[in-house]
Amino acid sequence: MVDLEGQHKKIQKEVDNAIEEVVQTSAFINGPKVHVFQKELEAYLGVKHVIPCGNGTDALQIALMALNLEKGDEIICPDFTFVATAEVVKLLGLKAIFVDVDKENFTIDIDDIKRAITSNTKAIIPVHLFGQCANMEAILKITKENNLHIIEDTAQAIGANYIFEDGKRKKAGTIGAIGTTSFFPSKNLGCYGDGGAIFTDDDILAEKMRKMVNHGMEDRYHYKYIGVNSRLDSVQAAILSVKLKRLESYNSSRIKAADYYDNCFKENYKISIPKRSNYSTHVFHQYTLKLQDVDRDKLCAHLQNKEIPFGVYYPIPLHRQDPYFEERFNQDDFINTNHLCESVLSLPMHTELTPKQMDFISQSILEFINE
Ligand SMILES: *Cc1c(COP(=O)(O)O)cnc(C)c1O
Repeated sequence: MVDLEGQHKKIQKEVDNAIEEVVQTSAFINGPKVHVFQKELEAYLGVKHVIPCGNGTDALQIALMALNLEKGDEIICPDFTFVATAEVVKLLGLKAIFVDVDKENFTIDIDDIKRAITSNTKAIIPVHLFGQCANMEAILKITKENNLHIIEDTAQAIGANYIFEDGKRKKAGTIGAIGTTSFFPSKNLGCYGDGGAIFTDDDILAEKMRKMVNHGMEDRYHYKYIGVNSRLDSVQAAILSVKLKRLESYNSSRIKAADYYDNCFKENYKISIPKRSNYSTHVFHQYTLKLQDVDRDKLCAHLQNKEIPFGVYYPIPLHRQDPYFEERFNQDDFINTNHLCESVLSLPMHTELTPKQMDFISQSILEFINE
């Protein structure tokens, strides 16, 4: 699905030097490289504060911890996402309120958010799924009217631009009160291990979260909050600085690959190519097709035979997973997610794809479908 080795080869020297510098100084935790990367990412995103942390799941958890929530408060999140989005909600004793997604662009459905709001709702976690922003302008309107927080889960969309109705653009993750991301190796900006970050323009929240990632410590061995141990280590930060310079070009390569795939599939009525909404650029963390009248299992077996990687993101809606299931859920509330889980298929998507590879992949799919 990804070609991290091919990508690494092109930056090997720079990465080696960056790692060696950290090793030489032995500043492995909270070293100067972390601060440098933080500043670079703040400048790239156009956000006041970046708080580096251990991974994207911790980033979400710390964001929630900073919001003064109480047990039982309700947090609205999409049903169709990676589990981390809802997991942290449950871990903190909060209530995850799952809502359906839009069947075209797979991001949280606006009307369903409105229906899900109660007097206990405190926050919404829109997920910019597969590389494209949720409808943030509509979500901002809802949160203003109802006095709710927004945490944008940007793990899959770093570098995407949200386009406001007046034409203004903002980077994904910098629109709501807090944004979070992951530097897991296969993400659009990946490190060589685990890593994550939180973004905010709010000085008070930033100060609080900066302490929370480090045990809630204010001064040495003086603690102001209950925190966690979740730090981005210096080796990862040094590598991320090398890769951040290339993020725009990495994302362009992904978009080019998506354009290529689009052309291969757009004429086939059994395949819906990814919808690109007019309020967001798409950085194609995943290239995800929707199949119609196709036996997906058989197609997957066909791809496996040809040694073509593929992914089903996601095969089961969160609301039907054991730890999240509740008797009161009504399946009619999750029609799109239920349908997507049965009909989506993600193809290899990364920065190193060649037309030859994509021809082979797409022809193999079309040959099965037209058979
Ligand atoms: C990857 C991912 C996360 C979690 O990031 P980790 O760094 O793996 O903890 C959270 N949300 C979404 C949508 C993701 O894709």
